[in-house]
Order: sequence, then C-alpha cells, then structure tokens
Amino acid sequence: MGLVLEKLPGLAEGVPGGGVFLTTADALIDWTRKCSVWPLTFGLACCAIEMMASYASRFDFDRFGVIPRPSPRHADVMIIAGTVVKKMAEPIIQIYHQMPEPRFVISMGSCANCGGPYWDSYSVVKGVDKIIPVDVYIAGCPPRPESLMYAVTKLQEKILKMKLSATHGAAPQQDKGSREIAAA
Ligand code: SF4
Repeated sequence: MGLVLEKLPGLAEGVPGGGVFLTTADALIDWTRKCSVWPLTFGLACCAIEMMASYASRFDFDRFGVIPRPSPRHADVMIIAGTVVKKMAEPIIQIYHQMPEPRFVISMGSCANCGGPYWDSYSVVKGVDKIIPVDVYIAGCPPRPESLMYAVTKLQEKILKMKLSATHGAAPQQDKGSREIAAA
C-alpha cells in the first residue's frame, strides 16, 4: 500500500484531471487515517495509568477509533507515557522504526516532554523528541485522560492536512527519521 501511495502522485499528475483525482484521494485517505488512529500499547511510568484510564469505560477511547494494538506493525501512533530513561531510548527507537509509515508520536506528560521532575538526573532523556520526532505534546504531571483525548483530536487535525503530492503521505518531520541518541 505504501508503494502505491508513493507512486500515485507522479502517475496522477501525468494524466488530465489527475489533480482532481489526487485531491479526492487525499480527502479519502486522510479521513480513513483520522478515523482509525491505532496506538501502540506502551507505557513507561505513572502517566501510563492515565493512558490506560482513557481506554476504560468512563472515557471510552474506542469511540474515536482509537483502539490499542499490541504490535508496532499494526500501530499508527506511539504514545510516550512516562519517564524515558536512557536504557529505554534504544528500544523506543527500534519500536518506532517497526511501525509502518505514516507513524505519529504523542509525548504525554512532563517527563516525556522534557524529563519532568527528573530533568537533572544522569539517567533520564531530557525529552523524547531528542530521539524520535514528536507530533503532539501534552503538558502536565500527569495529564488527565481528557488531555490525551484533546491531543488525539489535534493529531487528527494534522492528519487531515496531509497531502500525498507533498510528502508521499508522510508528515514532514518523518522525512528526517529519528535523531541520534548521542544528542540526548
Ligand atoms: S510526568 Fe509526572 S505522572 Fe507522568 S511519568 Fe512523569 S512523574 Fe509520572
């Protein structure tokens, strides 16, 4: 599917009316992606409890099409919920690369954003954006499930703006790939 989407803009632009076709395809593909944002089940510390609460009956994330997946190969978004210690940085990068493109990252809570209460610890990465690109940040220690829901709606807005012709379906920052862990 990824190869088809990659070749589609070049093929469509070569035929009359191809631009109209591409606009329609963008709208359809973005809408389907927006309605099925599947997160990887992945928790690192106390913020993960709030993430789990989001999936439970009171907040019911399923109604947004947010259905957790146990495998990175089925997931669209990685929610970094908790403190990222340096020992976990390498597995996070590896799991990120196992997710199919376009892939997204939500940084949930102060620890994932900048190290949080442990920002001056020798063992903590000072922000997960030092190792992988982040699409949406959520402030708080811990953020409530409502904040995570708001972040997903922001991610959905971002997905709706994606264009096959500009980025082959990937968000701009994804072209850069993950950054060097040495920068952490
Ligand atoms: S931001 Fe606060 S609640 Fe979340 S993992 Fe860090 S210390 Fe725990």
